[in-house]
Amino acid sequence: MGQCLFCKIVDGAIPAAKVFENETVLAFKDIQPQAKVHYLFIPKKHYSNLNEIKEGEMSVMASVYGAIAQVAKKEGFDSTGYRTVINTNGHGCQSVFHVHVHVLAGEQLGGKMTGV
Ligand code: AMP
Ligand code: ZN
Repeated sequence: MGQCLFCKIVDGAIPAAKVFENETVLAFKDIQPQAKVHYLFIPKKHYSNLNEIKEGEMSVMASVYGAIAQVAKKEGFDSTGYRTVINTNGHGCQSVFHVHVHVLAGEQLGGKMTGV
């Protein structure tokens, strides 16, 4: 997916402040942070959103969440707490079409979730 922004970050064509990387997962700081800690965790393989991951490949999301748990523990926000969010398509306000999990942490977050 040559034109995909997050694929370009995976390829190194666009810089990002990386916080985690292994064979299948990359995590980097969101450029418009919504909390003191705001990271994006992505599978390196391109899937435009959660709908596009076939059931047989869904283990990639276990790898993504495994990476989140590792980073949370390493940076110490596992115990203070954090929020993970995946936005999908129009009603979900998805803006970048490479599946990603937002991780928000580092301070008291507002509300439980934001709806309409
Ligand atoms: P979403 O609206 O759920 O698709 O989230 C996309 C996120 O990507 C937003 O929070 C943006 O701030 C973030 N974003 C867009 N471009 C970049 C970039 N080049 N580096 C890091 N984060 C980005
Ligand atoms: Zn992509």
